[in-house]
Amino acid sequence: MYRDILVIGAGAIGLSSALHMKRLNPEKSVLVVDRLGGPGQGNTAKCAGIFLNLATTELNFDLCDSTIDWFYHLQDDLGHRLGLTQYGYLYLLDRERYERVKKPIEEARSVGVDIKIYERPEVERLLPDLATGFGEEETELMGLKPVEVGVLTRKCGSIDADGLTRSLEAEFLKLGGEVSYNTTAKTLIVKPLKELGVDGEPFVWQDIHITGAETSKGEIQAGTTVVAAGTWSERLLDPIGFDTLTRPKSRSIFVFKDPKLDRLRDTRGFSETGLLPFTSIPEISVYLKVEPSEGTIWLGCADDFGRRYGLEDDPQPERGLYENDIYHALVKYLPCFEDLRPLNSWTGQRAMNRVDKTPVVAPAPGMIYVGSATGYGVTKCDALGRTVAAAYAGEEEVEFFGGQRIRVADLGIEDRKKVKETFKV
Ligand SMILES: Cc1cc2nc3c(=O)[nH]c(=O)nc-3n(C[C@H](O)[C@H](O)[C@H](O)COP(=O)(O)OP(=O)(O)OC[C@H]3O[C@@H](n4cnc5c(N)ncnc54)[C@H](O)[C@@H]3O)c2cc1C
Repeated sequence: MYRDILVIGAGAIGLSSALHMKRLNPEKSVLVVDRLGGPGQGNTAKCAGIFLNLATTELNFDLCDSTIDWFYHLQDDLGHRLGLTQYGYLYLLDRERYERVKKPIEEARSVGVDIKIYERPEVERLLPDLATGFGEEETELMGLKPVEVGVLTRKCGSIDADGLTRSLEAEFLKLGGEVSYNTTAKTLIVKPLKELGVDGEPFVWQDIHITGAETSKGEIQAGTTVVAAGTWSERLLDPIGFDTLTRPKSRSIFVFKDPKLDRLRDTRGFSETGLLPFTSIPEISVYLKVEPSEGTIWLGCADDFGRRYGLEDDPQPERGLYENDIYHALVKYLPCFEDLRPLNSWTGQRAMNRVDKTPVVAPAPGMIYVGSATGYGVTKCDALGRTVAAAYAGEEEVEFFGGQRIRVADLGIEDRKKVKETFKV
């Protein structure tokens, strides 16, 4: 089987890439394969479903902000159900952390992020469930500091990741794209550029390129192969010696529903939604997300330092992570969680760019790698898909939805733009 373009991976990033390549090259045949049974069932399905435009560099701001605008276009103009609920992203910070991020907040504002600061009395008024006055011996022993400031980023909220991938797939199919699920790419096919037809090719002295993939349904030859297999990309790329700058790391989500949490969930005053913003308490590495479709509260643990790297096919929540660990600190800040246990939990893996935490779009002969989104793959998927399409066309620049432009090479490996996000809490 031959296709002009083969995309491996039907996650948010693979489908965005396929959509934009097909849109710009309607005459080309574009096939997306995924080893799972439908669109977006890999780590996209496991994500917290948050979009946000908080960045201190123009590059990351443009990746996020343009993708969010595209989500609204998909929902409002093209009629897809993405469940967009813009309730903001609230950081609850102690004084010391706030002092540390004051300058980054100004940097973020200067690139276009809309941020509002709430001092402690206002945080206490708007969030009556938050305990801010500690002073107990146990809390002191735990080294926990009370919340003094709330930092709210407004253009942030919840997205239905499943709705997103289904809408991307639908738009792609409408253009004549093809998908093949339950199809695993086993290896990439490496061939010499000039084949001699001799046993043992390719030889070290021959120039090589990727010409498709050996899959569970046979060989698929392709003019260009896009590797968008998320954290699993290393299985295809390590054997050919291609470094994605990335390592996988697990993150778990715990789901709660209980009348004791209703007031917290229905926190008014931060946005017109009347819902608790996506809320992060960095002091205890915890974030909370109201899932509007279920009325549940999801809890994630942002414990990057101390958590091991390593690829897993079916990662599971660490035993006792909530009950024996997170819980004890969480109830100090949010006593409404007292005695509550999660109804459900799951664990996914994030493709962590270990160099600068910014995504990678890297062409090599016959292929393009896209990924390494470091926990922002949904929030940046459209901009990444457009960058892949520009790389495919050999363009120097890519234009995002809304007109922002960057150099394609800015996300590459060789001539990458060095950016440093400074908002670290
Ligand atoms: C707990 C958690 C919370 C997160 N929260 C957020 C968030 O709130 N906002 C955000 O923007 N991001 C979040 N992320 C990150 C986000 O999930 C990823 O950045 C994003 O899903 C990456 O998309 P992808 O298309 O690269 O990967 P995936 O969705 O994993 O897609 C890769 C696809 O490739 C397929 N595949 C793999 N190997 C093969 C093969 N050999 N052959 C065929 N198919 C293959 C897989 O089945 C999969 O469907 C979170 C991640 C986790 C784990």
